Amino acid sequence: CSSVLGKITDDEVFRGVGGHLILDRMHLGGKVAYVTGAGQGIGRAFAHALGEAGAKVAVVDMDQVKAAAVVTELSLKGILAFPIAADVSKPEDVQRMIDSIVSKWGVIHIACNNAGINMNSNSEDTSLEEWDQTFNVNLRGTFMCCQAAGRVMLKQGYGKIINTASMASLIVPHPQKQLSYNTSKAGVVKLTQTLGTEWIDRGVRVNCISPGIVDTPLIHSESLRPLVQRWLSDIPAGRLAQVTDLQAAVVYLASDASDYMTGHNLVIEGGQSLW
Ligand code: NAD
Repeated sequence: CSSVLGKITDDEVFRGVGGHLILDRMHLGGKVAYVTGAGQGIGRAFAHALGEAGAKVAVVDMDQVKAAAVVTELSLKGILAFPIAADVSKPEDVQRMIDSIVSKWGVIHIACNNAGINMNSNSEDTSLEEWDQTFNVNLRGTFMCCQAAGRVMLKQGYGKIINTASMASLIVPHPQKQLSYNTSKAGVVKLTQTLGTEWIDRGVRVNCISPGIVDTPLIHSESLRPLVQRWLSDIPAGRLAQVTDLQAAVVYLASDASDYMTGHNLVIEGGQSLW
């Protein structure tokens, strides 16, 4: 007596029919995923999390050496993975990435569009080159990945897209400047909301994760490093996020446990946006 959607009913869940406990519903066994910007930082942690939860993972980065190193790490854990060198700001690279996953594994269930860059100049000094470069990776790149993966997923009638936005999509973190970054990430949230509502009736969910300040190589760049001490006093949690603080969220959004969630911006920032 399953529901009209062919899914297990609430009553069956509470009686433990088929052992559908919550951890089973978050298991990603048999799923195919990719993660962009997976050569280091948050993307690397997402690739590990999805792989540990059972998915096969295509590790995508413009830095081929870093992508290959993460594949080696995953393989040592027994996770099936392969590297793809691709720049998400280039349409031909995005299509090649999608085609190579489909030709290797036949399907794409989970698309993790995480690659992003951050430059931190004063707004009055922001050049059009900086603006365009930031938007080409953060927003146009995310759009192209969503569209190319989405086409495959819509044909399958199933897919989970998880974009990496930022707390900077909601607030203007003080005393950072990063006009182009903040604006591009606000665009990622709106992109996520629009696709998430447009595609849900065809089986594709689109959500995003907005981390606060995460201890990755990105924040140790020359322009951001001096701000780290200042940020600490802005975070109610009293510390920067570690990449491990984000891992369960990506598994949840990639799994069937989050089927009723779409277009959502999951903010994980130690309370900083509420301070
Ligand atoms: P990072 O700089 O440590 O790592 C980014 C990875 O993406 C690198 O391996 C890099 O080679 C790759 N990359 C960059 N541009 C690319 C492109 N065009 N195509 C393919 N790969 C590319 O960054 P991170 O801190 O891990 O950030 C990952 C994502 O999280 C970004 O979208 C970033 O904006 C977002 N984010 C980071 C923080 C933070 O505090 N670190 C906070 C909020 C959001």
